[in-house]
Amino acid sequence: MEILSTLEDIKKRCSELKKQGKTIALVPTMGFLHAGHVSLITKARQLADIVVVSRFVNPTQFAPTEDLDAYPNDPERDHSMTANAGTDILFEPPAAAMYYADHATWVEVPELAKGLCGITRPTHFRGVCTVVTKLFNLIQPDFACFGEKDYQQLTIIRRMVRDLNMPVEIVGCPLVREEDGLAMSSRNAYLTKEERALAPHIRKGLLHLQDMAKQGECSAQKLYAAFAEYIADNIPAARIDYVSMVDEDSLAPLETLKDRAVVAVAVYLGKARLLDNILISK
Ligand code: AMP
Repeated sequence: MEILSTLEDIKKRCSELKKQGKTIALVPTMGFLHAGHVSLITKARQLADIVVVSRFVNPTQFAPTEDLDAYPNDPERDHSMTANAGTDILFEPPAAAMYYADHATWVEVPELAKGLCGITRPTHFRGVCTVVTKLFNLIQPDFACFGEKDYQQLTIIRRMVRDLNMPVEIVGCPLVREEDGLAMSSRNAYLTKEERALAPHIRKGLLHLQDMAKQGECSAQKLYAAFAEYIADNIPAARIDYVSMVDEDSLAPLETLKDRAVVAVAVYLGKARLLDNILISK
């Protein structure tokens, strides 16, 4: 595995590979890898000749009050995990190299970024779209893999690529879970042992909503109330940031379940803010 850290090097190497007729699949990450990231790399390996993984904690997607400085980091472990998963090139630029001091250009999809995570993180997706656009321009991937764990992010990236005719195919990959059902996340490292033991109830709460929908419950408000009650009973220390039933493509909030819908949640537990989602149907 080659490790590149300057923008010039990654640009030059990828353009050489493209000239040789190689296809490239990109997996953008913020490091501190787990099996969810590895599943994206495995998918990328199936799609293209060359797999590029980026490892970059993007400052522009963090608000000043958020965990940028505390974000977990283990370069050596990440290097062996990416290499073992079949990565050809690991791109890990220092933050100062990715943005000019007077960076002034932003890519935004406001319509899709205003709800769900966008309510508490209003500048987050602008940072994500901007860094992903920069990575696409540097690497020129044919494919880019994103996880369904970050459902809003995946939907926004798909829309950005469609609307701006970016020449890359976005590949959504299934959410990978721990054995007890907790969605894998680098931020799970923030949980204490006690919090970690209770965190799988977030998934269980969502499965409970799926059961209710199968039994005929269609009201979003009733589903939200049931989730809130489930969390209050099972993880009293948790605080729900949001629970929202949305259209799976437009992310528009739904008052009533018609056929299928995504229920997405964010839950604060200790120092972590945990995301999960489920596709429910009648
Ligand atoms: P992150 O390093 O958290 O920014 O995530 C990098 C990529 O990995 C994103 O496309 C995430 O959606 C994806 N990802 C993170 N956790 C999981 C998971 N548990 N299952 C599948 N994909 C994931």
